[in-house]
Amino acid sequence: MQKKRKFNLRTVPLYVIFAAAVVFFVIKLVNIQITGTDRYVKTMSLTHEREVTVQSLRGEIYDRNGVCLVKNEYSESLMLDHASLPAAVDEKNEVLARLIGVLRDCGQEITTLMPVRGTYPHIEYDEEALKNVTAKNRLARFLLYHNIRSDVGCLELYEQLLEDFALTDDRGEHIYDTETEDQLIRLRYTLDATDFADDNPYRLLSDIDLITETAVLENGCKGVYVKKEYKRVICVPGVGSNIIGRTGKIPADRVDEFLSRGYPYDAVVGLDGAEAAFEDILRGEDGITVFVEDSYGNVVDSYVKKEPVPGKNVYLTIDIGLQAEAERLLGEQVKKIAAQGRASGIPDNGEKADSGALTVMSSKTGQVLALASYPTYDLSTFSEDYPDLASDPAKPLFDRCLSGTYQPGSTFKLATAVAALMSRKITPDTEIYDSWRYEYYKDYQPTCWRSGGHGLLNLTDAIGASCNYYFYEIGRLTGIETMNKYCTMLGLGEYTGIELPENKGILAGPEYKQSINKVWVPGDTLQAAIGQSDNSFNPLQLSSYISTIVNGGNRYKATVLYKVCNYSGSEEEINGPQILNTAELNEMTIDAVKRGMRRSKELTSTTKYYNYPIGTKTGTAQTSKTNNNAVLVAFAPYNDPEITLSCVIENGASGVNAAAPVLKTISYYFGLDENGNPLPAQNEEN
Ligand SMILES: [Zn+2]
Repeated sequence: MQKKRKFNLRTVPLYVIFAAAVVFFVIKLVNIQITGTDRYVKTMSLTHEREVTVQSLRGEIYDRNGVCLVKNEYSESLMLDHASLPAAVDEKNEVLARLIGVLRDCGQEITTLMPVRGTYPHIEYDEEALKNVTAKNRLARFLLYHNIRSDVGCLELYEQLLEDFALTDDRGEHIYDTETEDQLIRLRYTLDATDFADDNPYRLLSDIDLITETAVLENGCKGVYVKKEYKRVICVPGVGSNIIGRTGKIPADRVDEFLSRGYPYDAVVGLDGAEAAFEDILRGEDGITVFVEDSYGNVVDSYVKKEPVPGKNVYLTIDIGLQAEAERLLGEQVKKIAAQGRASGIPDNGEKADSGALTVMSSKTGQVLALASYPTYDLSTFSEDYPDLASDPAKPLFDRCLSGTYQPGSTFKLATAVAALMSRKITPDTEIYDSWRYEYYKDYQPTCWRSGGHGLLNLTDAIGASCNYYFYEIGRLTGIETMNKYCTMLGLGEYTGIELPENKGILAGPEYKQSINKVWVPGDTLQAAIGQSDNSFNPLQLSSYISTIVNGGNRYKATVLYKVCNYSGSEEEINGPQILNTAELNEMTIDAVKRGMRRSKELTSTTKYYNYPIGTKTGTAQTSKTNNNAVLVAFAPYNDPEITLSCVIENGASGVNAAAPVLKTISYYFGLDENGNPLPAQNEEN
């Protein structure tokens, strides 16, 4: 049973503290700037109000057992505020130079974006930095804005800016020392290049320390304020990254969309994964603090116009322990297959295995318990790792569980069996003689994979032996239309309903063939019946399809949303199971498929040793003339199935190679040893 999360003293008052902190610093600024100096005349006659957004807290993310996955951590940034900087260019330089000096004394270097290396006059463009498209475009835009020709040399640009930014006097003499001048140019370049404006403050420094903060405040630096905000912290680094996702600034191509939804320009939003999928739940409502300023830009008063409202916490259906284990086991197996393939010296024997997917879902609810994609990445070091991740040929950023689509191979034969049984073309006892070559058609005669054929088989034997001949025959008897009717009910080639982006793949058939201007021929039906032709599905679809069969026909909407709680953890809304459709199945059909999968488990070299009652089916899907993907689907336990799993290993040579991580994941879930036996009873504590 889930424990209700207790009222959490840690989280509730944070935004209150935050609001109080803003007021505290405003008061400090007022003290310094008004009482601390007599340079300004205390005139109150000309005040104006300035609204500052108070960032609300984003909801946190937990796993199904309440393990924290993403939390909020506080930080303070030093912001440069356009409205409180003097408009006159020389005064502005003076204010910025003072600020630069104070920060330099604190050992802080401000963040600037000018792609120039070296110190004047020994400077050159930073070609490495300009390889970045954003940096390149920023420079181009800046030059256009300043009416400087696009092919300007670095030194010439610098000298032009000395003039434009009024950093030299009438006689052309430099006003500031070289270091300050250099920083001023870089800063002013950055401000212009990032559209610095009243509604777009610039972040000079992130995560500032108390010494810097105090120095800035006590030296009466104008034009800056300390922004208290929080950042997202990944609690279990490197696990479930493909599910959790990232937050960040609004992407340039989605600014209009977010602005129309009431977001401020500098909002932090969910970019992918659960952070994006549950944006509307996680997002809080920002508050507004009003600063009253006199005609010199000094803050003389402030008040809260709107309190921020924190977002809600999201509990995912994922079990982070299971997820970690699935990721570990999948990675281990991929490496093992590659090593064994290399050691065998036989070409195309798994040595190219480098990636895969493993999914675990609840057969009874559609809740997704784990989505392991290998290779993967670590959200907590994403920015630093990004260049390597983006250029890695194994594509670690690609979520193979949902975006990857794979030929199901023989794991599809279960769907063919369902269609043939439900349309009464066969019964579970129907026997067919496999003589190796299927000779029904004169012009197309595919063969069984086993040379010499399997001889006489019933359905259980045929699933167990994965006999192609049997499925050519029952596929032909059933026909592609009826096969597809049942495949669609089982969710093959359909969206699983999961809240994350997925590729729904392709269900082979005349309809798809027509869409690519080709004609479906009878031979295609034979190929489709054994999971080939155009069939291609994402790994979660495979789990969902097996769930739908073994749970009696309910195709549950796949989901990663377990429940939603208030930020304080008090109220909760459970996301109950939803049925997308009910597949026409009867007991006879369900039993026949399950028996076939049990037989398959018993006959397969890599699953037969496992003692826990389960059903499995392997698939070996040809991806090119030489490479095969390893595919396996499974459910457990045999009676009253609770979980369904799928595993795909790219270039894994043979379906049998996908078994180990699936069996070990089942063992982890049910608390068994690696052979599927109960663990020795634990001694009671004390
Ligand atoms: Zn056969």
